[in-house]
Amino acid sequence: MKNYTDEQLLPLSGIQHYAFCRRQWALIHIEDQWQDNFLTAEGQLVHRQADDPFFNETRGDRYLSRSQPLLSYTLGLQGVADVVEYRRETTGVPLRGKEGLWLPCPVEYKHGKPKDGPWDQIQVCAQAICLEEMFGIKLSEGALYYRQTRRRLAVPLSSELKQQTKKMAEDMHKMFEHSYTPPAKAQKNCRSCSLYNLCLPQLAKASADVGAYINEHITGGDEK
Ligand code: SF4
Repeated sequence: MKNYTDEQLLPLSGIQHYAFCRRQWALIHIEDQWQDNFLTAEGQLVHRQADDPFFNETRGDRYLSRSQPLLSYTLGLQGVADVVEYRRETTGVPLRGKEGLWLPCPVEYKHGKPKDGPWDQIQVCAQAICLEEMFGIKLSEGALYYRQTRRRLAVPLSSELKQQTKKMAEDMHKMFEHSYTPPAKAQKNCRSCSLYNLCLPQLAKASADVGAYINEHITGGDEK
């Protein structure tokens, strides 16, 4: 399995953008002009999360670590987890200053509601793979908390999800290495895309329609 170097590490949070739309990820993470606005908005969101009552659950056999740094050399990703929840378990790991063994569970906070696609789950899975690598353990569950619905959802970390996440991280590195930004292509996700007004996928569709019209009606439609 490939190990990336410190210089090659990419932002872990980008994997959710990549899973949502490869072009969105490239606009944010390869074409830096979009990055500032987008990451500033994300940062403000995280600060607002501090008001959430869930953050006060720090009693008993649970310990919540906020803003925990994460790193995986096999994924080539680094970032920060909103919350890592440690539960006292015999299968856990020792923590400095705490008695017993503690099993980590990454908990990612989202401002909206559960999505149609698995991009939030993939982000949690990437966080879990970081924790597995950092602690030398295997994890079977992460979690998502949606502020709009105020619901916490378990994220089962199946081997399929882990494979999908690893493959996605590998593809991100290839695209980054080649500085490749895929062309705009109108899709279902565009309706909820934060970069819609910058990407303008409808123009790409209009241009493709014009090209098809010219090919069919002006050049005879039989050209390859
Ligand atoms: S508008 Fe559509 S094609 Fe463009 S970045 Fe967003 S999801 Fe991707």
